[in-house]
Amino acid sequence: MTKLMFCGDCGDVVSPGLRDMNPRYCECGRHAVWWRDGSKGLISVHDIKFPERNGGDGGKAWVIGLHNHILQMGGLMANTSLRAYTPNEDPDMPYTGNHRTRKAWVEQALADTPDSYLFKQVNSMVVRFAPGATSDSKWEAVVPRPLNNPPIQ
Ligand SMILES: [Zn+2]
Repeated sequence: MTKLMFCGDCGDVVSPGLRDMNPRYCECGRHAVWWRDGSKGLISVHDIKFPERNGGDGGKAWVIGLHNHILQMGGLMANTSLRAYTPNEDPDMPYTGNHRTRKAWVEQALADTPDSYLFKQVNSMVVRFAPGATSDSKWEAVVPRPLNNPPIQ
């Protein structure tokens, strides 16, 4: 799952970035998001107005989860009448035969998803939940000091 943070105050959607323990803030500055351990999908969110917030609903920020297949799927996902492309395929190539439609590709991706995943439980490639509503997300009272590393090359 790829995760993003959505701020309900300003509407900004913020990626936790590529480095662990490196907070990023939404446009209004109320919320920060960072990976505790990105390789395990452990994400944290901080609310400046209510730093003691510790779980469940009631906050003004949410985590948006994207099924990994969304990012791996080639071509446009919106047009379900056309076939799906594998990532290395040229989407401009003409239809050559025995390929699944994009809709079938999405349905297969969800069918292949373990039952314990939120995507499977709600039958969607995108989920939204409050920090703390899942075992891999939580509110944090303290924001880690931002890393001061050069950009990843
Ligand atoms: Zn904000």
